[in-house]
Amino acid sequence: MHIPLVIHLSIHFILAVLAGFLVGKHYHKINVGVIAGIMGGFLIDLDHVLEYFFTFGLRFNFTYFFQGRQFLLSNRTLSIFHAWEYIPVMIIIIYIFRRRQTLKVFLMALTLGATVHLISDCFLNNYPARNYSIIYRASKGFNSSLMLDADQLRFNNQLKQDLGI
Ligand SMILES: [Zn+2]
Repeated sequence: MHIPLVIHLSIHFILAVLAGFLVGKHYHKINVGVIAGIMGGFLIDLDHVLEYFFTFGLRFNFTYFFQGRQFLLSNRTLSIFHAWEYIPVMIIIIYIFRRRQTLKVFLMALTLGATVHLISDCFLNNYPARNYSIIYRASKGFNSSLMLDADQLRFNNQLKQDLGI
């Protein structure tokens, strides 16, 4: 399933707002919840921008970015913010700050937003859940070829050919 990026991002955005809203509403801090939900559930994808700069340096090109050339050219998937491993760590941090109401709501919405994002990424990108483990990715040296299945590699190679890269 290859859905257009704008739909993919819209789904992330809507789910992020919803996750933040639900946490915020429960604690009567909707603004804090929604802002943190968007950060955890939508701005989490900013690591793809970081990845772009790792590959291309500081010459930013929107088209290249949205084509995902940073992944295609480098054959690396670091995706530093995308990891299940942060969730238990966040739960411990939330527990530590459990009496700081606003901070707690912020961290809860951030964590729920990110969790929903990772789950939806598995479906939207059709990747197994293990691809969103940073320990798993590290064990593969962040090498995309070792993490994608044959179909996905074929698709990426086709894309590279189409783009002439
Ligand atoms: Zn993502």
